Parts: sequence; structure tokens; C-alpha cells
Amino acid sequence: MNLIEKSLAVNELFKDLAIETQQFNEQSHLKCLSGCGKCCANPSVPATVLEFLPLAFEFYHSGLAEGILAQLEAAGEDSYCIVLNQMTIAGRGGLCSHYSHRGLICRLFGSSARRNREGKKELITCKLIKEDQSKQYQIVSAAIQNGLEIPGSADYYTRLFAIDFHLAEQQYPINLAIRKALEAVFSFYYYIEGEAV
Ligand code: SF4
Ligand code: SF4
Repeated sequence: MNLIEKSLAVNELFKDLAIETQQFNEQSHLKCLSGCGKCCANPSVPATVLEFLPLAFEFYHSGLAEGILAQLEAAGEDSYCIVLNQMTIAGRGGLCSHYSHRGLICRLFGSSARRNREGKKELITCKLIKEDQSKQYQIVSAAIQNGLEIPGSADYYTRLFAIDFHLAEQQYPINLAIRKALEAVFSFYYYIEGEAV
């Protein structure tokens, strides 16, 4: 697979996840707090290069790539995700400006499960939802134990590894992952153009 094909494969994975996530969300009735983007306002969100290839191609084809790369190069280690539109007080709220191209971590958080030390499935979500919707959170947690279908985080990472282990094995702070994805796209087109000469 070349880089474009890998990006398309990631998009296929996202489509499958969207179907599973929608089914889970319809059953769980858990919802993010209105206007909240607190989980995005964290420079340490861990992400892989591969999950941000679709976003990097989108930046490239919309002519935004060079400007975004310059912003990423200037961003400090404590900068929030470059894609986050901050609306309110820093760290308290914001919206994803490229929601349809967000990464795997962004899609799994709040709508997927991992196995805990006892091997039981547990919902991966934030403290705000656990506190704000505590009763429903308990109901959903029990339902998951009793077989409620929910996307498995590990399953989706396994699928990501299968597309390109090298681009998926390492987790970086989110802006660094986006930057590396953009650099990979630039290198890809540089190589293609070099071939065409
Ligand atoms: S998952 Fe939690 S922190 Fe993130 S947007 Fe939803 S409510 Fe806010
Ligand atoms: S890509 Fe969007 S959803 Fe993911 S961390 Fe950045 S702003 Fe949040």
C-alpha cells in the first residue's frame, strides 16, 4: 500500500467504527456536556501518525498544509491540539474544527471499552460524564458487563497496526503526531513529483 491507500484504509476503519459507535450511543444515552471540549484541551493526548494521515491529506489538498506545518513547528510542547477551536476560557472548552478527520483516539474516547485488570470491559470516558450522568454511567457499565455491544479499543488499534505497523506503533503528543503525518504526506508527494520528472 502507498500512503494514499493507507489513508483510505484508515478512513474505512473510521467508517466501521462510526457504525459501531452510533449503535452504542443510541443504546447508552450518555452524552458529552454541551459545548465541552475539555478532553481536547490537553497537549498530552496520545496519538499515532497513521490515524492522522486522513487529516494531513485533507490539509494538503485544501492548501492549508504549509501554514499548519508552520504553526505546528512554532507550537510549544504544552500547546493544545492544533485543530481545536478554543471558544471559552483556555482549557475549558472548544470544538474540533476538522471533526470528520479527527483521529482514532478522538473517536474512541467516550464510546469504546478496554479490559481492566480483572479482564472485564470498562467504558473509556471522562470524569465529567461519570459525575454528570453518574446513574446512567452505572447502568451502562453494568450493561457492558452483561454483553452490551461496544467498540473495543484494542480491536481498533490492532486494525490500525495491520494497516502500517511502523506508522501506528509509536504514540506521540497529538500535535507531534499531526506534524509527522503532514511531513509524511509532503515526502510522499515530493517523491511522486520526483518520479514524474
Ligand atoms: S468526553 Fe468528557 S471532556 Fe470530552 S467533550 Fe465529552 S464531556 Fe467533555
Ligand atoms: S483532532 Fe479534534 S477531536 Fe481530536 S483532539 Fe484535536 S480538536 Fe479534539
